Amino acid sequence: MQGFFDTPIEFLKGVGPQKAALLSKELNILTYGDLIQHYPFRYEDRTKFHLVREVNASMPYIQLKGKIRHIEALGPPRKRRLVVHFKDDTGEIELVWFKGVDWILKKLQPGVEYMVFGKPTAFGRKINIAHPEIEVLTNFTMQPGHLQPVYSTTETLKRKYLDSKAIGKLMKTLLNAAFPKIRETLPVTTQEEYGLIPKQEAVEQVHFPKNHESLQKAQFRLKFEELFYVQLRLLKLKITRMDKFKGIVFHDTHLLTKFYNEYLPFDLTNAQKKVIKEIYHDMRSSNQMNRLLQGDVGSGKTIVAFICMLLVTGSGAQAALMAPTEILAIQHYNGLKDYAQKIGLRIALLTGSTKTSERKIIHEYLKNGELHILVGTHALIEEKVQFQRLGLAIVDEQHRFGVAQRSKLWQKNKEIYPHVLVMTATPIPRTLAMTLYGDLDISTIDELPAGRKPIKTVHRYDSHRLKVNGFIKEQIAEGRQVYIVYPLIEESEKLDLKHVMDGYESVCRAFPGVPVSIVHGKMKAEAKDFEMARFVKGETKIMVATTVIEVGVNVPNATVMVIENAERFGLAQLHQLRGRVGRGADQSYCLLLSNYKLSKEARVRIETMVRTNNGFEIADTDLKLRGPGDLMGTQQSGVLDLLIADLGKDGKILQSARQAAQAVLAKDPGLDHPGNTNIRAQVKSMRKTVVNWSRIS
Ligand code: ADP
Ligand code: MG
Repeated sequence: MQGFFDTPIEFLKGVGPQKAALLSKELNILTYGDLIQHYPFRYEDRTKFHLVREVNASMPYIQLKGKIRHIEALGPPRKRRLVVHFKDDTGEIELVWFKGVDWILKKLQPGVEYMVFGKPTAFGRKINIAHPEIEVLTNFTMQPGHLQPVYSTTETLKRKYLDSKAIGKLMKTLLNAAFPKIRETLPVTTQEEYGLIPKQEAVEQVHFPKNHESLQKAQFRLKFEELFYVQLRLLKLKITRMDKFKGIVFHDTHLLTKFYNEYLPFDLTNAQKKVIKEIYHDMRSSNQMNRLLQGDVGSGKTIVAFICMLLVTGSGAQAALMAPTEILAIQHYNGLKDYAQKIGLRIALLTGSTKTSERKIIHEYLKNGELHILVGTHALIEEKVQFQRLGLAIVDEQHRFGVAQRSKLWQKNKEIYPHVLVMTATPIPRTLAMTLYGDLDISTIDELPAGRKPIKTVHRYDSHRLKVNGFIKEQIAEGRQVYIVYPLIEESEKLDLKHVMDGYESVCRAFPGVPVSIVHGKMKAEAKDFEMARFVKGETKIMVATTVIEVGVNVPNATVMVIENAERFGLAQLHQLRGRVGRGADQSYCLLLSNYKLSKEARVRIETMVRTNNGFEIADTDLKLRGPGDLMGTQQSGVLDLLIADLGKDGKILQSARQAAQAVLAKDPGLDHPGNTNIRAQVKSMRKTVVNWSRIS
């Protein structure tokens, strides 16, 4: 049966070798199976006619019927535009064409009944429809009203007559042949419990829905199935790992006790205590830990990481911490060094720029066990780096490492996998966490250390710059320090530099006599460090920077974060930047500057920042605005390449699908029961195509 869906697309009637090559190149459609999963991305509602009176610009594509009252061709010959006054019994609306004017002119006649289909837009105070479809109504009434699928296609395909309609036709041909061969992929019990329609019906209805209701049922069924299998894979991974991989059991808490009694610099928050307990529990059990530690900026993850290292190093094993960038690795190293030295543990930093001579020593000490803690970048997972006994690997992920890298770290201990703790500073929406880290247990630090005053965030237009500058002056007069951040302008590094340099000059002009630092991506590392150090010591009062300061700076005396062109920043980035202030006891502020013209999305981003300091709420909004692919960067897209489900919108379905997968595996971890035959077959067929499945044995 599977064979049918593997048939190369060129054998479908109406395709042939040339179109097949195009479909494969443009849309990655190679087989029948690929085509049938090329789901419509929207639907045109041909089930009803609207009245002209009801039309407004917020409507999607709509259908009207009526007559042409008057036709005007306006403008000079080369830029001629056609305005058609179209009316029904309730009113009149303009239809506009900018192209193909002659052709349309020939086609249209006053007095005849037409069907019009298009998207209304506001044009000043008027509403018109540009380039609608228009047909004589008698022809149209031949077709029954329905929801018409719209398929994504490309300009190249359109030129070769493979537009959405043509793809729809191919789909119809394929579906006729394929229908009896579509296999049910979910157990009957799951279908019943969650009210899922059969797969066959779902596939048919998602392409050619009878009505809104059956479309919705079809989408729900297919999304559920897609998320079910993602979750099943992750949960199975977890079960397999628990079965197969024993964890190293760590008991010795003498270092921990000593650190608590003598060196702990502050009281831990309850949230910190809670996650430490969870982590300790894992490392004391005989299971290998795979845990995600989430905590907002400033929630105090560094000390948690260190305390976890104490259990491991106190028991004679080693700990490693891997960060995605050199700056971050250095920051972690600096953060941990003092603690380590106090308690008498040896710690080293290994990055791409570590000198060969130093590297040799590190390698040696790692191997003979004299080095207890290693902090670094990717350099850590190189083959040459060998530990005597790695007990705990911490990954500060920031979304930049994938499952593959995580697994490389496990293999750093050949005898028994080390415990793995993944830390993320940017809170991840639940739906994403469940998908990206669905095979991990999750701990969350949901509380900031006491005494922190919530940062006050305001939005100001550029025209209020004088007032903003006045405020900055006041803060400096009170002894505080200020960041002013300029955006990166993606298209051109030169422009970036100009932007921040111009900013620097105007800041110097606006604050005469105030010492100003500048840091940007084009500076040499030493120059950067030098400038940073001056700011840290308080020698300079204002730090003008690009987003390089997003990570790696901790200056408690800095209380103001000014973000220029705030509309150009993503939400996660704004939140990270804001996290640079509010680190001391004084009230901190974040000022988002923008010009008057803001896109709808930019407005939502800025409003969200002003409304809340809660990283999780911000992450949720970000997910809704951008979609998961963008949010997580390209590295993760493999996991997130969903065909129909949308993690930004389908959180509820995801929840149910995960629950369903959990229930199935709880009863039948090996998927051996006869009731789970469908699942077994589907897993088998997916294993062929999805690389990730191969990790489940
Ligand atoms: P992040 O979670 O962003 O990595 P850090 O670990 O850098 O946060 O901690 C931010 C700041 O808060 C540091 O200066 C740290 O020393 C301090 N800190 C951490 N935990 C506490 C606590 N329980 N009480 C007071 N200050 C704390
Ligand atoms: Mg940190």
